[in-house]
Amino acid sequence: MAKQSRGTCNLCGYESTKAGLTRHLATCPANHDLSTGKPSRIFRLRIEASYAPEYWLDVEIKETATLRVLDQFLRDIWLECCGHLSAFTIGDTFYDVSYEGDEEDEAMEAEAEEQLFALLKERGIPESRWPARRRERGMDVKISEIFEEGLSFEHEYDFGSTTHLKLKVVSEREGKISDKLRLLARNKLPEWTCVKCGKPATVLHSEKMYDEENPFYCKTHARGWDDYPYMPIVNSPRMGVCGYTG
Ligand SMILES: [Zn+2]
Ligand SMILES: [Zn+2]
Ligand SMILES: [Zn+2]
Repeated sequence: MAKQSRGTCNLCGYESTKAGLTRHLATCPANHDLSTGKPSRIFRLRIEASYAPEYWLDVEIKETATLRVLDQFLRDIWLECCGHLSAFTIGDTFYDVSYEGDEEDEAMEAEAEEQLFALLKERGIPESRWPARRRERGMDVKISEIFEEGLSFEHEYDFGSTTHLKLKVVSEREGKISDKLRLLARNKLPEWTCVKCGKPATVLHSEKMYDEENPFYCKTHARGWDDYPYMPIVNSPRMGVCGYTG
């Protein structure tokens, strides 16, 4: 399979391993800040595909950005194939892209949940048997309300053929950046090799990707297939899934 994953700093071009870039990004972003303007809190995130950690991103996101900004970024860079639903799970809250309730609905749901737990307690049902707490909210929530250093959470795109991502708030700093979110670093495209001959692969067999360790083929060994199972190799954990072609 792939060798140790390498990536590139989007700000200065420095190339290193995942761990090397983590160290590099402790200092590089501040050197690429605006010289004027008001500083704000900026959170640095490491984002990784849950079952394919060779796909990873580092981003900075401003305190005034919402979860929707982050969701849209993930769709643009890695995920979007045909407008599937998505959600973040942070603690006991499910932030759903399609949630249409307002703050009043959220408060009502929270109250209903509290009543349920009060009732279970009254009946003497042990806490271990209570349903998991689960709040539902929309994505128009400012990240400054939620993020803190060390926070780990998840993102799911498409509840049929789901792509699962793990996110972690690595650090926080004060700084000046122009956009609400900027890409700091990204993995380089892993070098996949043909299962038959070991030469660099050019396509993926989308039907074999779920049950074969190496579903990659070079041009020569992919000959004879119909168009359908071919999928392009793209730098995304959604490669080969649904209609995703990058
Ligand atoms: Zn750099
Ligand atoms: Zn799709
Ligand atoms: Zn080959």
